[in-house]
Amino acid sequence: MADSMEADRHCLVTGANRGLGLEFVRQLLARGERVIAACRHPGRATALNTLAGEHPGRLHVLPLDVTVARSREELLHELPLVLDGARLGLLINNAGVLPGGGRFGQVTDADLDTSLRTNAIGPFLLTQVLAPLLADGEGAHAGAVVANLSSEIGSIAGRQEFRTPSYAIGKAAQNMGSVLLAQALAPRGIRVVALHPGWVRTDMGGPQATVSAGDAVAALLRVIEGLGPDTSGVFLDRHGQPIPW
Ligand code: NAP
Repeated sequence: MADSMEADRHCLVTGANRGLGLEFVRQLLARGERVIAACRHPGRATALNTLAGEHPGRLHVLPLDVTVARSREELLHELPLVLDGARLGLLINNAGVLPGGGRFGQVTDADLDTSLRTNAIGPFLLTQVLAPLLADGEGAHAGAVVANLSSEIGSIAGRQEFRTPSYAIGKAAQNMGSVLLAQALAPRGIRVVALHPGWVRTDMGGPQATVSAGDAVAALLRVIEGLGPDTSGVFLDRHGQPIPW
């Protein structure tokens, strides 16, 4: 197993209460990692709270709305208590939103605003604020990995039809954020990647989607494990294949 995914690291997952986020938490715990599951309403996160009971001391559930500056800062202040002197080895910026509708002529301010704030601004500013708590790479030890859940729908090069404009614009902006974060964090040996999970059966993907959350997350964790020490600022699908920006 590559350094980046050695068991017993501290991993933070956003939007961890359902869908892919919840599945990341399950699979990371099963590998023996320590997990901080961040979600908007911990009191209502039944599945996470059940998991926390099953993994005493290894799963902490903390509040986070990625669109709210104070919420991001409160997480920064809470985390040292959980990390107990350690740093984060893996940050999974998973929280995302897919605004409905979006025919040309009917795109709204509100949908663009929600998508940009949740899909692009949130993960960028959360990574910036948590940067002091990310593990540095030192010698043979790889630094932290920041994995941003993107979508092929955010690929500018791949767009050939007018579809889901608010989501597409939000994910394209997130992709630029990933590249800039990769450059900012490279001197510390911290790698930042944009990952497309496929079309996954979650509330967002719907029941017709072709991939289960379990298979998507297992594949994405393999991609993260397999990242080379200098692989950063890349946009990959769940098989590790590059997606054109
Ligand atoms: P999902 O089932 O709709 O879950 C979205 C998660 O994000 C929920 O936990 C939700 O929390 C959280 N979230 C939304 N806004 C938030 C905010 N402001 N602050 C904190 N958390 C927030 O979606 P999913 O399918 O698991 O998708 C996970 C990621 O994969 C997203 O970034 C998505 O764009 C990406 N993705 C998914 C697919 C797919 O086919 N499913 C394809 C490509 C990319 P609440 O429960 O509080 O709303």
